[in-house]
Amino acid sequence: MAFRRAKPVPVPTTERAPPVLDPRAFGPTSAGMVLDMLPIPAAIVALAEESLHFEGINKPFRMAGLGAIASESPVIRLLGDRIRRFVESEETSEEFPWRFGSEVDSRHFRVKLARRSFNSEKLKCMVSLVDQTSELRTEQSLRREMATDSLTGLPNRTGFSDELEDTITPENCGGHAVMVIDLARFGRVNACMGGLAGDELLISVARRIKGALRGRDVLARLGGDEFGVLLTLDDGPQDALHVAKRIEAALTNPFRLSDFEIRVECSIGIAMGSDNDGDPEDLIRNAQFAVKRSKKTSRAEVYQTHAFDIAREQFSIETELRRAIENGQMALYYQPICDLNTGKITSFEALARWTNEEGVTLSPNDFIPVAEESGLIVPLGRWAMDEAAKTIAAWDRGAGGDCGARVAVNLSAIQLHRDNIPDMVKRALDTYGVPGTRLTLELTESAIVTDPDRVARVMTALKGLGATLAMDDFGTGYSNLAFLQKLPIDVLKIDRSFVSGMLADRDKIAIVRAILSLAQALGMKTTAEGIETNELAQTLAALGCSYGQGFLYSRALARDDAYSLLIERNGPPAISSAI
Ligand code: C2E
Ligand code: MG
Ligand code: MG
Repeated sequence: MAFRRAKPVPVPTTERAPPVLDPRAFGPTSAGMVLDMLPIPAAIVALAEESLHFEGINKPFRMAGLGAIASESPVIRLLGDRIRRFVESEETSEEFPWRFGSEVDSRHFRVKLARRSFNSEKLKCMVSLVDQTSELRTEQSLRREMATDSLTGLPNRTGFSDELEDTITPENCGGHAVMVIDLARFGRVNACMGGLAGDELLISVARRIKGALRGRDVLARLGGDEFGVLLTLDDGPQDALHVAKRIEAALTNPFRLSDFEIRVECSIGIAMGSDNDGDPEDLIRNAQFAVKRSKKTSRAEVYQTHAFDIAREQFSIETELRRAIENGQMALYYQPICDLNTGKITSFEALARWTNEEGVTLSPNDFIPVAEESGLIVPLGRWAMDEAAKTIAAWDRGAGGDCGARVAVNLSAIQLHRDNIPDMVKRALDTYGVPGTRLTLELTESAIVTDPDRVARVMTALKGLGATLAMDDFGTGYSNLAFLQKLPIDVLKIDRSFVSGMLADRDKIAIVRAILSLAQALGMKTTAEGIETNELAQTLAALGCSYGQGFLYSRALARDDAYSLLIERNGPPAISSAI
């Protein structure tokens, strides 16, 4: 029932309202006077002949619209049973909160029932009410404000936690999932275009994500460039992955910000309610944990709960990997790197491939981290180096001299710390009688960051063998540019994440340009990774990039196929020239 405060309650002629002040109701004392002196709504309620009626109400009671006649008063209609129980009991007083009215128009009172002990011939009590509606409303709106992100109007981290707490219970947690979406490179938008543009972008992103959700999903901004979604799963965990796909698709088209088009990439982590005991904070934390994996794999990741399962999986990969390395089940594939001006192949990057016992080919992105963690990276790295040297020897033999393309071998940061790299490389070269000049070694930017002095020593020793040195995945680490200058690096490899999709993203173009001019200033060549279209190759060439690598030229090929491609592209060995 909607309750209106101002409207006076009509008094029917049959049942008359008690006087506002009726001394008879209060016995021999001047209790009636007391009632009327109270600044809050109060009434004397008596139980007689099985029904409750008013023996007196004060002015504030009537003014508050709480009714003048017992049968019409919400106090009697809604609290009648409680009042009756009280007057029939031995209690002298009772206090409780009371809310009435519709959801939007509800009013909140603190109700006190007090027995008139000196008037024992009748069952009666005083009902007084303190209106707490405005305090509660203020508190609610303050709480709402504290739980809302002022930029997007979405729930913030606090609001999201509250929402999860209200929605997810141990019984229904299987039907829910929490998703965390983290925008990539958002900080750069803020830095390059200013906070206002960043804010505008966040609002647009929030709008698009919201559009990709279903009606019951709840979107929140957890902070900075991180969003959270509470998902209801109708058809099991698959639902969450579908929503992730929809969000990714929604963010595919670039965003327009003043004159710029900005492409937003995101990492998505999901925590399934069924895998947790429903603790909301755990769900958020686990989804954030999955985001970290998503950043590495570039696909939505579901948090794998049981550390035991992960350990077991890791352990079985590790055992299988060890066996694969020992039994020669690994293969090295070769992806061409071409001169962007001539289109000729200048080298091949050697990439490890592992087909496990079930016939599944695993990506190095899956097994290199396991190898690094378990220490298997040392035998794996030695095997790769040995295999690459063997291949160079075979190709050069086939060409009757230098075949015209170097082979680039990857060195992982962990490998650099666990093995004596210069010795290991020299041993492999000597075994097959290959000069160091036929080899490129690719080190990632992260390797420098962890132990720059050691890396500098290793690099200098490798340079001493005549090898070319390339800095892999450049732009993704945080290397000190001043330090970079001191290292004997020949080539910067611009990470694929900046190259792919670059034509539609001014932000990426700006980064690529910056890397190219940095390389030029430092006297280094550049290789762009991940070239998949001709247009991209031409643009990069025009920007001054030296080499290109990517599916446009070829995927990584088995040793003999790679050699055939080299002959096909560069012509017969006699006319090919080493670069
Ligand atoms: P990376 O050194 O940056 O190698 C380039 C990766 O990009 C390769 O993935 C290659 O297949 C992929 N790629 C090349 N062109 C394109 C393209 O146009 N589009 C797309 N989408 N991808 C392209 P892969 O073979 O999966 O290797 C992943 C990473 O694993 C390598 O990244 C490297 O860091 C590591 N890795 C591979 N083999 C070895 C190895 O023998 N030793 C060590 N330490 N690391 C290795
Ligand atoms: Mg590489
Ligand atoms: Mg790379």
